[in-house]
Amino acid sequence: MTATNRDALLARYRVERDKRIRPDGNDQYLEPTGRFADLLEDPYTERVEREPVHDHVTVAFIGAGFAGLATGARLKEAGVESVRLIDGAGDVGGVWYWNRYPGAMCDTAAMIYLPLLEETGHVPSAKYTPAPENHAHARRIATQYGLYEHALFSTRVTHLEWDDAASNWIVRTDRGDEFTAQFVAMGTGPLQRPKLPGIEGIESFAGHTFHTSRWDYAYTGGDPSGAPMTGLADKRVGIIGTGATAVQCIPHLARSAGELYVFQRTPSSIDVRNNHAIDPAWFTDLEPGWQKRWQTNFTILQTGGFTDEDLVQDGWTDISQRIRDRVVAELSKPGAEFTPELMTRAFEDSDDEKMDEIRARVDAIVADAETAEGLKPWYRQLCKRPCFHDEYLQSFNEPGTHLIDTDGQGVERIDETGVWVGGVHYELDCLIYASGFEFRADVTRRSGYDTVGRDGTTLEEAWADGMRTLHGIHVHGFPNLFVVGLTQAGNLISNITHNLTEAGTTIAAVVGHAVSVGAAEVEVTQEAEQRWLSQLDSSTGIFGNLDCTPGYYNNEGQPLTEKDKLNGARYAPGPVAYFEHIDRWRSSGDFEGLEFRP
Ligand code: NDP
Repeated sequence: MTATNRDALLARYRVERDKRIRPDGNDQYLEPTGRFADLLEDPYTERVEREPVHDHVTVAFIGAGFAGLATGARLKEAGVESVRLIDGAGDVGGVWYWNRYPGAMCDTAAMIYLPLLEETGHVPSAKYTPAPENHAHARRIATQYGLYEHALFSTRVTHLEWDDAASNWIVRTDRGDEFTAQFVAMGTGPLQRPKLPGIEGIESFAGHTFHTSRWDYAYTGGDPSGAPMTGLADKRVGIIGTGATAVQCIPHLARSAGELYVFQRTPSSIDVRNNHAIDPAWFTDLEPGWQKRWQTNFTILQTGGFTDEDLVQDGWTDISQRIRDRVVAELSKPGAEFTPELMTRAFEDSDDEKMDEIRARVDAIVADAETAEGLKPWYRQLCKRPCFHDEYLQSFNEPGTHLIDTDGQGVERIDETGVWVGGVHYELDCLIYASGFEFRADVTRRSGYDTVGRDGTTLEEAWADGMRTLHGIHVHGFPNLFVVGLTQAGNLISNITHNLTEAGTTIAAVVGHAVSVGAAEVEVTQEAEQRWLSQLDSSTGIFGNLDCTPGYYNNEGQPLTEKDKLNGARYAPGPVAYFEHIDRWRSSGDFEGLEFRP
């Protein structure tokens, strides 16, 4: 691309971004209260009354998604039998419990995404597996490792408090439970509270309405495996949002609804999916230890590293491969040197090429020229969550599917009978919110309870200026507590479960060691925590990139505070180095930085 062409492209990106910048940033969203309060409830499992629990467990894990399951499994392997999962949902599965919308599937290849494939022997049905299969895999892990035994479902923790005299945690819940746990781990997820767009009149709509994370099959008909939604055949359905969730459910809505109106503020980038079945014979022949090798290979390639082969071969690694090929080609020229400018040029050329292909794909698939124009994304690929789908763009060729492009402005107003955009009223029977989830909330809000550590300090107080941990897991002042997440650790967003399983393996090693040496308490020293903080990169990359079109990735285009940056920081040398570091750290048996006390 010539310099002039690039200038023109970046100018276009800037115009599109500027259209969408709003001074209210994250405050534009509403929490589901009042009429929408039931969006936080569990429509899938009936809450059955039970007696409160008053007992003691070795480890309580708050959250029964893949974080809790992977940690629980590793704890059991380490001989720790008394493990209790606690979750507000009626079963294990976390994100795969809640998200049952039609078409839901994982965008990360199952071979590296689904935890413990070697241990469970499960053969993924396809390269990218559908939500029901992911949920079934969560249940498989829970069953195989006996994690249902002490679990408390449909139960929310309300308070967590360290008892210094007894060296354990007191856990209280909304079911009146009050039990103790020697260790507590929390893996409550980064994107679990549904949010709604703060559109004028949103409360007034008199038709049927729900959020994608609480899909109402009783109204729509159909089921999570994609059966036709017969209840929508004579309905005018609207959907607000065109992010990763909407991209997956819109093809199903387009097939089932009488009329479908897709209200778009910013188009997603839709790259090819190329899903295919997994051959069980090929799978069975894989060498032991393959899953870790595949995960490492993916992480290296996705984060710009070099390896001989690309095992996963998908859209996540594609752009890094292009950058790498360009760098290699440049460096093979006589006298060439590796410089930051060379990297920037390789990145920009690769991104320009990729986004051109993505826009050309829209033209190739979408028949109506105006609709096609509206569906083209004008930003760098990683500014927003990249999407991959082979039926989404085709949906707009269905006669009953209408793209209502708001030109970056969003829906204007909602009234009793429908939605207004650009002065035009769209009458609807059903309005679906694909408006995403809260991101960057403080720890108490995210988890829903206070965590009171040694000396009566809460985690929220301890982190008033930002998160402080060793490895993203251990917190000084909070003995026997483990945090499971992405930040201050590998922070690999392209394969979330890789972060979670590494944390789980680490926690199991620490707890296993504490139990074997008879330690009542384990706590990170202040010095070790401080040393780790000095090794973090708080520059946040795309998550702080204000040149990007706004969204949850870049804090809706608002500058990040120092606290936000610390909360989103990662080990500076990157995910591959983090995973190697944490493996060495736990395998050495020294657990440097932790103090084990009798
Ligand atoms: P997102 O936050 O990505 O999308 C919300 C959508 O709502 C955006 O398109 C947004 O537009 C739109 N919106 C918000 N306010 C308005 C308004 N006032 N008028 C019109 N539109 C509006 O949520 P998702 O649920 O789609 O995805 C959340 C995350 O969940 C993903 O990024 C991904 O990490 C994860 N996910 C993962 C999947 C997987 O395969 N593993 C599948 C699905 C989701 P705008 O872009 O302009 O802000």
